[in-house]
Amino acid sequence: MAPLVNELPKSDKVLFVFYEFETTQDTRISDSATLHVSNLVYLQQFCSRCEIQADIDTDFERCGRRRHSFWEDPVGDLLSHLCEPRPWCDRVIAIAHNARGFDAQFILDRAIVLKWTPELILNG
Ligand SMILES: [Zn+2]
Repeated sequence: MAPLVNELPKSDKVLFVFYEFETTQDTRISDSATLHVSNLVYLQQFCSRCEIQADIDTDFERCGRRRHSFWEDPVGDLLSHLCEPRPWCDRVIAIAHNARGFDAQFILDRAIVLKWTPELILNG
């Protein structure tokens, strides 16, 4: 997972995925703190070819359905979705409004469990 630079990729074979986790806070970890446990991830996506077509309800031939939500294993299902084979696609860019402060933490936690190396996170 590379930080975004303020520059669009040159390739048009890019899938942009905007995601957001929702969480419960029922798990107390101390007297004053609870653990955020993801119970839903919602995402919208489009490819660099159809980004100007704003109709979110229309599926596209190349990048498919534009809205997805996962709630059985939100983190694992999001990662599986991001890693799905897409022959037309060179790169998937996942974007969250508060990635650094919140949403990416769930992915990083899972990366630790899966023993991902930084190279896999940056290039995988
Ligand atoms: Zn598309």
